[in-house]
Amino acid sequence: MGSDFLFIDDDLPPDASPEPTAPEAEPWRILVVDDDAEVHAVTRLALGDLRYKGRRLELLGAMSAAEAAAVLRAEDNIAIILLDVVMETDDAGLKLVRFIREDLGNLAIRIILRTGQPGQAPEEDVVLAYDINDYKSKTELTAKKLFTSVIAALRAYSDIIALETNRRGLQQIIQSTDRLFEMRSMRQFAAGVLTQLSAFLRVKPDAILCAQRGTPDGQTAGDAGWNSGALPDGSIYVLAGVGSYAEAAGQAGAGIPVGLAERIATAFRSRQSHYGQNETTLFIRVPDGNEVAAWIHTDRPLDEVDRGLVEVFASKIAISFANVSLYERLREANETLEARVAERTRALEDANAKLERLATVDPLTAVWNRRHFLELAGAELGRARRHGRRLSVFLLDLDHFKAVNDGYGHAAGDEVLRVAVSRAREALRTSDQIARFGGEEFAILLPETDLAGAHVVAERVRAAIAGAPVAVEGRAIPITGSLGVAEWDGVEPSIEQTLRRADTALYDAKQAGRNRVCTATP
Ligand code: GH3
Ligand code: MG
Ligand code: MG
Repeated sequence: MGSDFLFIDDDLPPDASPEPTAPEAEPWRILVVDDDAEVHAVTRLALGDLRYKGRRLELLGAMSAAEAAAVLRAEDNIAIILLDVVMETDDAGLKLVRFIREDLGNLAIRIILRTGQPGQAPEEDVVLAYDINDYKSKTELTAKKLFTSVIAALRAYSDIIALETNRRGLQQIIQSTDRLFEMRSMRQFAAGVLTQLSAFLRVKPDAILCAQRGTPDGQTAGDAGWNSGALPDGSIYVLAGVGSYAEAAGQAGAGIPVGLAERIATAFRSRQSHYGQNETTLFIRVPDGNEVAAWIHTDRPLDEVDRGLVEVFASKIAISFANVSLYERLREANETLEARVAERTRALEDANAKLERLATVDPLTAVWNRRHFLELAGAELGRARRHGRRLSVFLLDLDHFKAVNDGYGHAAGDEVLRVAVSRAREALRTSDQIARFGGEEFAILLPETDLAGAHVVAERVRAAIAGAPVAVEGRAIPITGSLGVAEWDGVEPSIEQTLRRADTALYDAKQAGRNRVCTATP
């Protein structure tokens, strides 16, 4: 794995925060348990200068099993216990083995049993019955043999710890990526990545995550979720920051400390992760062509196990980055689509309203058309029938209208129609309804009105129309109308019958010389 990493410690930018010299790695802790002070002294002498994997030994001591139990309860990172058998009792050491494995549940610690009286605890029986890792007679424990024994035990212990750390780390990665997969916004996801990374490296979150827009080989990377806005290809910007860098999110790369920006730029340039003394810069290539670099402060150099975990994490989240980006793009597309649908719906509603108007209103005079008048009249007739109310209609036909068209032109005729309608409407009551029935013929519905009342209203309309000539383009066009009134007789099944009688009355008015109102006989 080592060749994959770039070590730039030697040429750090001058303004980068100086990394402290590597702290002395923690020593291996070994607990010597024996009621004979001499044994402690000899062991110390034999193992004092030993180093394994660059780490020295730290010897802890206990003079009895009870004392050892107390130490073991308090300290959790003891690698080896060199354990006497006969102490306060003949089997005090063996009982301590049970206590360690079963009560403390400590399976990692390596237990080397040392007995001065092999007859007291026969080797075969003890190895089978107790979970120990080595059995030595004190007489055969020369300095050399002790050294071999301890190194073998340390190797086993460090493997166990590495496996355990790895297992726990992988478990955490699986859990954290599960949690991360639920995050749908890029910013949120990026911050989550930093938090989870800090969590499984067991460090206080102090980290920053940057993205680089586009790719140098010319592929266009999608912008969805990357928030790079109008930044040019190749520029660096901060997707998320935690701890001291929480404020940096959303900034261009120029907004972060120079030393840090330089490390991130180096990661993008070399396309490799970098593991320093107390920091790590992780390079992640996202399948959609974008690139991400996460810088994290660590309180220690990451060991092989940590680095392995970091790499696993990086490869898992690379795909997630692409997924989140895709999700954001889908959401953007969906929002655009929704906006378009809303716009179309509005346009459709407008068109419907227009159609509705066209279906009910006469475009020239803006009064109801025939179809809608008959609907209104039908409903009114129903009410009149149910409540025993009176209902009347009258028809209005302009006199010699053809002559207006012929004499003044069709446009003037249109204007005359509009003026006649507006005069008629002013003469009507608000509850009356007027509709254009044909060319220059109009129908008027008068709810709750008997024949005499209708005649009065019709006469008012006639007078209003004939009141003054219509002025069109400087010319005065005299107009009159003939009207025929009829009242619904209470039995006619539809208003059409009543209208037919009104039409007859209208005919009478025409016959009688026009510009007059005639009423139909019931
Ligand atoms: P009468 O007194 O017997 O009712 O004679 P009239 O000329 O009014 O009746 P007629 O039915 O012979 O002629 C109606 C005329 O109205 C014919 C037609 O060209 C005209 N007209 C119908 N619709 C419109 C319109 O929308 N605009 C204009 N300018 N003229 C119209
Ligand atoms: Mg006419
Ligand atoms: Mg007519």
